[in-house]
Amino acid sequence: MTNEKTDTVVVGGGQAGIAMSEHLTNCGVPHLVLERHRIAERWRSERWDSLVANGPAWHDRFPSLEIPDVDPDSFTPKEKVADYFVAYAEHINAPVRCGVEVKEVRRASGQTGFFVETSEGIIQANNVVAATGPFQRPVIPEIIPKEAGLTQIHSSAYRNPEQLPEGAVLVVGAGSSGVQIADELLRSGRRVFLSVGPHDRPPRTYRGRDFSWWLGVLGVWDAVAIEPGMEHVTIAVSGAHGGQTVDYRRLAKRGMVLVGLTQSYKDGVLTFASDLAENLVRGDANYLSILDNVDAYVDRNGLDLPEDPEARKILPDPDCVTDPVRSLKLAEAGVSSIIWATGFVRDYSWLNVDTFDGNGNPEHHRGISNEPGVYFLGLPWQTRRGSSFIWGVWHDAKFLADHISTQRKYISRYSSVP
Ligand SMILES: Cc1cc2nc3c(=O)[nH]c(=O)nc-3n(C[C@H](O)[C@H](O)[C@H](O)COP(=O)(O)OP(=O)(O)OC[C@H]3O[C@@H](n4cnc5c(N)ncnc54)[C@H](O)[C@@H]3O)c2cc1C
Repeated sequence: MTNEKTDTVVVGGGQAGIAMSEHLTNCGVPHLVLERHRIAERWRSERWDSLVANGPAWHDRFPSLEIPDVDPDSFTPKEKVADYFVAYAEHINAPVRCGVEVKEVRRASGQTGFFVETSEGIIQANNVVAATGPFQRPVIPEIIPKEAGLTQIHSSAYRNPEQLPEGAVLVVGAGSSGVQIADELLRSGRRVFLSVGPHDRPPRTYRGRDFSWWLGVLGVWDAVAIEPGMEHVTIAVSGAHGGQTVDYRRLAKRGMVLVGLTQSYKDGVLTFASDLAENLVRGDANYLSILDNVDAYVDRNGLDLPEDPEARKILPDPDCVTDPVRSLKLAEAGVSSIIWATGFVRDYSWLNVDTFDGNGNPEHHRGISNEPGVYFLGLPWQTRRGSSFIWGVWHDAKFLADHISTQRKYISRYSSVP
């Protein structure tokens, strides 16, 4: 039935799969990385053209290789991010097979391991690592019917302003993706409405250092637990245009119309929740708390960093906040397109093993699933806040490789493993 065997199959050749390969190699575990498209495909074809990394190049990379030809304090363009992972795979000699899709993984009955059915045949493996991404399937809430005659796309399908028909644009969702896309559309001369939900918004820099550094030394990236109610709170940051703090009031000052959460649609009229001011105040509180924590850190450690009182100044609320738009006649407002920056869901339909809850979410502890031999990597909050990001996934991969290697040692005590 199958003639190929390996110890561990890693499904997905994004940054998670590449990190996994590095650590498995370091632990001496034979493995294959199977990628249905190209290495780091999502950075190439599922992001908009102008995207740059949200963290500076010194931070958004793996530890053992710098990003070539990019100033460490600047923000790497998305194609260079993808190139970096291709170069990294070469650097560590990762056994990646591109163009190979995993169709199904199922337990081998009466024997150890799994059958991994791929577009190029079946591979038998003792372990399977699902590294298929934190953001798998785009989700557009069912609010506006297709027949409404508007162009509606998900942020993952947005490329540039020219792609959209003429007219105003509503961007729904103001996390890092939504706010960056809305800003780009505004700069291109479009009239833009931005539907703003709950968010965290760290300062891009404070007292001369980037927030990525501050969140690191303050332990925020390593935070292990999500505060109740904060599961869906997005961090709104941007590396675009040299990196600037996301400031919704400043966008409004430039002409963007902010609205609350998008709620419902009827007969050409869209309604918004009354939560806009509240969401902004909550984002401000997060922003100011980071400044407070940084100041305390500077004092505690006696750092000689310049004070930055300007950073504490919050602009006055613009009209769209004090007198919010609660319902919008789309045609009258000239809105021809809607971009849904509303996130993604997971899709593990190919992973036919017993480790999912009733909603299809993986049941696991730090990536080790309930099904011995099945692992997850790159999930949001897998072990900490940073788990779905470049630097975080590298550390989670190390933990999983160590676990796999330890299991191999037990098993090999009494039998041979590939
Ligand atoms: C707009 C945006 C910007 C981001 N910017 C940053 C940033 O600046 N810094 C940062 O650290 N993080 C950023 N992230 C978060 C994260 O780094 C990316 O989402 C990253 O792509 C996740 O890498 P991954 O390897 O975990 O998953 P993915 O990149 O999603 O890789 C999974 C791979 O699995 C493959 N695959 C899926 N199913 C199968 C199958 N059945 N068989 C074979 N292959 C399969 C896919 O083709 C894909 O290549 C960003 C995310 C988004 C959405």
